Amino acid sequence: MNVTEVIGKIGKLLYPPRCIGCDTVLAEEERESGICKDCRPQIHPVKEPLCKKCGKQIYAWDKAYCMDCDTREHNFRQGRGVFLYEGPMKQAMYRLKYGNRREIAEVIAAEAMRNYGDWIASIQPEAIVPVPVHRKKLLRRGYNQAQVMAQALSRKTGIPVVPIVERTLDTLPQKELTPEKRAKNLKNAFKVRENGVKFKRILIIDDIYTTGATVDAISGILIDRGIDEVYCLYGCIGQGY
Ligand SMILES: [Zn+2]
Ligand SMILES: [Zn+2]
Repeated sequence: MNVTEVIGKIGKLLYPPRCIGCDTVLAEEERESGICKDCRPQIHPVKEPLCKKCGKQIYAWDKAYCMDCDTREHNFRQGRGVFLYEGPMKQAMYRLKYGNRREIAEVIAAEAMRNYGDWIASIQPEAIVPVPVHRKKLLRRGYNQAQVMAQALSRKTGIPVVPIVERTLDTLPQKELTPEKRAKNLKNAFKVRENGVKFKRILIIDDIYTTGATVDAISGILIDRGIDEVYCLYGCIGQGY
């Protein structure tokens, strides 16, 4: 055994790999997937049929879009979500965001490659762009979970992570605003960095997709700056109707 292997062994003894869902120590045979046998049946990769716009799993094969996308335009061209946001994945996403559990990003990236590797190859993004958090939050938390996910995906695809968008406002749009005003507010919360304008196709990475307001705001400003096609990939997404 060399030094690196010894350090690896000691690390595993001190910090044995834990389930991304329930946080119990994984048995040897569960370590590769990162999911224990109890959580496995409750963790669902998103399956077809999908909404052709946002990527939510829907029930009907004869429908192109989910109810939400049927009635609302999005600025991004197409999105995909890796896991359904339910059961143990809710805990996993919380730990990824607040608990610095980077292996969760690895599990998501591996599933993203299995499920959407062909999709990513077909859209040929030139850069992976994480949804940014404000500098103040970054200082407090020490990392941005979307950036961690973007790096995990970058290692598997070879597509570089280029953080061309920054968050300039930390405040969330007020609830009492109309949807139009809220969207405008959110759009003002982001800024494209100068190095972003050279790209034509971008893949935005975020942890959870709900209404799409954030990725729409970012897509909007990227398109304003001359980027042709904006796609999105999220760690988790809700069930669509
Ligand atoms: Zn578990
Ligand atoms: Zn949709």
